[in-house]
Amino acid sequence: MNQRAKDESLAIFDRLESEVRSYVRSFPVLFDRGVNTTLTAADGQEYLDFFGGAGALNYGHNNPAFKQALLDYIERDGIVHSLDLATTAKKGFIETFERCILKPRGLNYKLQFTGPTGANAVEAALKLARQVTRRSNIVSFTGSYHGVSAGSLAATAHKEMRAAAGFPLAHVTSLPYEGYLGDSVDTIEYFEKLLNDPNSGLDKPAAVILEAVQGEGGIVAASVEWLRRLRDLTSRHEILLILDDIQAGIGRTGKFFSFEAAGIVPDIVTLSKSLSAYGTPMALVLFKPELDVWTPAAHTGTFRGNNLAFVTGRAALEAYWSDSKFEDEIARKSAILAKELKSIASDYPELELSVRGRGLMYGLVSPRQHSLPALVSREAFSRRLILETAGSFGEVLKFMPALTITEGDLRRGLTIIRESVHAVQDRMRTSVGERKRTAIGA
Ligand code: PMP
Repeated sequence: MNQRAKDESLAIFDRLESEVRSYVRSFPVLFDRGVNTTLTAADGQEYLDFFGGAGALNYGHNNPAFKQALLDYIERDGIVHSLDLATTAKKGFIETFERCILKPRGLNYKLQFTGPTGANAVEAALKLARQVTRRSNIVSFTGSYHGVSAGSLAATAHKEMRAAAGFPLAHVTSLPYEGYLGDSVDTIEYFEKLLNDPNSGLDKPAAVILEAVQGEGGIVAASVEWLRRLRDLTSRHEILLILDDIQAGIGRTGKFFSFEAAGIVPDIVTLSKSLSAYGTPMALVLFKPELDVWTPAAHTGTFRGNNLAFVTGRAALEAYWSDSKFEDEIARKSAILAKELKSIASDYPELELSVRGRGLMYGLVSPRQHSLPALVSREAFSRRLILETAGSFGEVLKFMPALTITEGDLRRGLTIIRESVHAVQDRMRTSVGERKRTAIGA
């Protein structure tokens, strides 16, 4: 397809779809099919997906390990929509979740299925924490992302998204995440001082909400030590700890939950994105049984029972989380990803790149030249690799390939990244050279 035909294939989106659209602007392609990490466009061109539906496609596109279960369920007229009625699909999911996830980890949580988006789960978690403690304030952290519905947005740090609310976002205090004030400031100590000082101005919060690895914030991972100290601090002050595992959960950091490495047990956990395993919407809040103060229908929603998601979510738990093989596989690919990114960073010292992350959630960070990741992403897209940027200034190139990516595709994508970084550096050198020549009148 030539450029003109390509533009025409997207014309209706430009003409009729709201200006609010975002990813399609970075990757203007008419996509048609997806298999694991390969996307095929309407014109037959193939793209490699390192974007992974922003964490919703941890098992890749149309994973054959559970596609058949979905087709069989539809074929036999299994219930699709059920609010919170009991269905065999839902029962199967809950039983499997208990057997494969809760029991082996010694976790004792009740399950609340909410409306199907991550923001829906966060709204429910915040409401519950406020009801239980009868306090209204919530502490969230710099760089955090918890959704864009009013309650979750109040806990989200992003400036433009907050501004779009159109009214003041209240009852949340933003505190510095680990490392925000540099290595010499202990942000847990700071938080504790605020709690102990009657003149600090901090209203005692119902809960602290956080991501163990901030995704949209730019792949900022809290240390195990910091997470343990935060758990200890919140327990001592009787503040609930809400761990938002919507993006970093379901294996993304190498374990099913992102907080497992720290050995902590949050009071409330929010899950969504890859929980359904198939890219279909589903969200879940886990909480300690003693927090279950909900009265029937006090928090409701029409789409709390996506049975297609229950079917594939269950099949994924059975296929990938019955033993530790998948975790081993993620660890092996994580080592390949981290090693190659570090090698790229060290091979291009002029660009002053650094690498951070966990599991298959990594960032190539450009702290000095904030526009660089977007240039590399654009360059990679021209080589048919898709990945997005993150961070306050877009200073992070974000690697979120499916956990099921083949080693071959992982290495191929990383080769494209290396070539793209090289091309961007070349172009930057050329433009600096041109500027110099112009300045001296050459
Ligand atoms: N929490 C986290 C950590 C997220 O990354 C996101 C989505 N990026 C959300 C909540 C909100 O999820 P949703 O977009 O499905 O509302």
